[in-house]
Amino acid sequence: MQPATQAWWFAAGRLLGTVLFGLAVGWLFGKPWAGLACALVIHLAWQLVNLFRLEWWLRHRSYADAPDVGGVWGEIISQIVRLHRRKRFHKQRFVQLIRQLQRSTAALPNGVVILNAQREIIWFNRMAARLLDLRRTADLGLRIENLLREPEFARYLAVKDYSNPVVIRPTTGEDCYLSLQVVPYGDGQQLLLVSDVSRQMRLEAVRRDFVANASHELRSPLTVISGYLETLSQDPALDGDLQGPVTEMRRQAERMTGIIRDLLELSRLEETDEVVGGEPLDVPALMSTLRKDVLARAKHPRDVRARVDSDAQLIGDEPEIHSAFSNLVDNAAKYTSPEGSIEMRWWVDDEGAHFSVTDTGMGVPVEHIPRLTERFYRVDAGRSRATGGSGLGLAIVKHVLQRHGAELEVQSVLGSGSTFTCHFPLQRVQQPQAAVTATG
Ligand code: ADP
Repeated sequence: MQPATQAWWFAAGRLLGTVLFGLAVGWLFGKPWAGLACALVIHLAWQLVNLFRLEWWLRHRSYADAPDVGGVWGEIISQIVRLHRRKRFHKQRFVQLIRQLQRSTAALPNGVVILNAQREIIWFNRMAARLLDLRRTADLGLRIENLLREPEFARYLAVKDYSNPVVIRPTTGEDCYLSLQVVPYGDGQQLLLVSDVSRQMRLEAVRRDFVANASHELRSPLTVISGYLETLSQDPALDGDLQGPVTEMRRQAERMTGIIRDLLELSRLEETDEVVGGEPLDVPALMSTLRKDVLARAKHPRDVRARVDSDAQLIGDEPEIHSAFSNLVDNAAKYTSPEGSIEMRWWVDDEGAHFSVTDTGMGVPVEHIPRLTERFYRVDAGRSRATGGSGLGLAIVKHVLQRHGAELEVQSVLGSGSTFTCHFPLQRVQQPQAAVTATG
């Protein structure tokens, strides 16, 4: 039998014994009920004494020993002692775990800041303190946006798209760049991860300068070569055997000129990540120009349509938007056969403004789609070279869209065609009514 069960049987037996003893003594004196009542009162008093000792020990258990009682009370006390020991053991393990966690996050090479739902600082590690110039006691409880006032960070928090980090240049550090990323967790809390990306940014700047300078330097000799090749190709005295090679050399020189032009444009776009403002643009007029450009190509799809579903204007930088849209339309023309068709579409809905180019061309295998906007990425190098592509067109489109807070969506079915859609946010839309008021 379990000790607890034994104790309960013993307690029941003792109660029965008390009752019988009370009745017997009372019977001896001719008052059995009075005897019983006295016995029960004594029994109750004994229980109260035990209850008092238990309660007193619970209050002073940090320094007092457990009362030495047997029976059910003894069982209850030993249960409490066991529970108490288990709790202390778990608490110690928990404290150890927290200490280890704090030590490991303190040793992280990246900064970590814990923010609550109001974005107030709860805790930060040593690296975060160093990178963000935080002070251990003074800055706890302050809102992070009051300490980091860089506009890029404010915009990052306002947009609430935390899938990528934002790079800021704190006013405190000379030539210092920090990458910040918010990671939401739990019940509205957030982790702010901070890392020093100054070295990467410096290398990136060196790479950009190198590409821009090399492109600049190559442009002049190439212009001379192209000029001579043109003169040569028009020379009636040119040997017939040389006609073919000279034409091919001209074609390749034109390709190189295109690549250098695109490289220079990309370098210019990469110079700043800033979102551009701009003027309201007449997209339907731009579409009609692009349509004419396609039809002016020596080889072009038979059917080129421009579908305008909104007369709203797009606020943006005219040369950049022109370059992005013309790259998309150019690709559609390049990768669609003369029997195929192209449709440009411009529309506005609750989410923003959209410009799409749909073609019935060769399409792109689905596994290539995520990489199309990388520099020099080609689905099929032969196909692209044959059409005179530089492999930089979609990289330019991506950059222009980024600078306008917009995104590129690509849908394509191999052999059936593709749709490239630019999604602009609502802030970029100017309704005609507003345009009239603004100009009137
Ligand atoms: P390119 O100058 O080579 O066309 P882009 O950056 O404009 O370079 O495009 C990258 C690659 O994406 C192209 O090489 C081509 O394979 C593919 N591509 C782009 N647009 C289309 C399209 N409309 N249809 C099929 N493939 C396309």
